[in-house]
Amino acid sequence: MFSLIQLPYAADALEPVISRETIGFHHGKHLQTYVDNLNKLIAGTEYESMPLEDIVCKAQGGIFNNAGQILNHNLYFTQFQPADSQKDKSNEPVGELAAAIARDFGSPEAFKAEFEQKGTGLFGSGWVWLAADKDGKLVITQETNAGNPVVKGLKPLLTMDVWEHAYYLDYQNRRAAHLQALWSIINWQEINRRYLA
Ligand code: MN
Repeated sequence: MFSLIQLPYAADALEPVISRETIGFHHGKHLQTYVDNLNKLIAGTEYESMPLEDIVCKAQGGIFNNAGQILNHNLYFTQFQPADSQKDKSNEPVGELAAAIARDFGSPEAFKAEFEQKGTGLFGSGWVWLAADKDGKLVITQETNAGNPVVKGLKPLLTMDVWEHAYYLDYQNRRAAHLQALWSIINWQEINRRYLA
């Protein structure tokens, strides 16, 4: 049985970048539905006691879709922090990850520009990811629907959800503005921790 992940911040802590209302629907309704659906689908199957990442790598169809969306949203919701919790208001990548971003993209600005462009340019519903290969090289991938780069053997580090439910209440059709705003609430210590894990 999977359960709904607890948010590491209050529902209104990410305002004005992500409103309490969006958190309420996105975490409390959309993600809860994926959890409920997956638990029903895996009852009595080989997937019942399997870790989430293993289900995502092995399953197809409805089980893949719901497990993928749980994995994606768990990584998504735990990568944020309130903007006012940052000592450094510029909120740039830190540690080994910062060095890898400079090495593989040239600069944080070049990385963010490519990431936003790939998120804005993804047609339909999906996710844009920063991921690392087995040698620690960083790549940005576009995944449709419930996709996660773990299926390609990559380690998922950071993601932006480009399903309309992630931003429509706050930004309507302005996906690019939403993606640009998210940088101010990224918890780079957490992303660096994932990179080193
Ligand atoms: Mn979502």
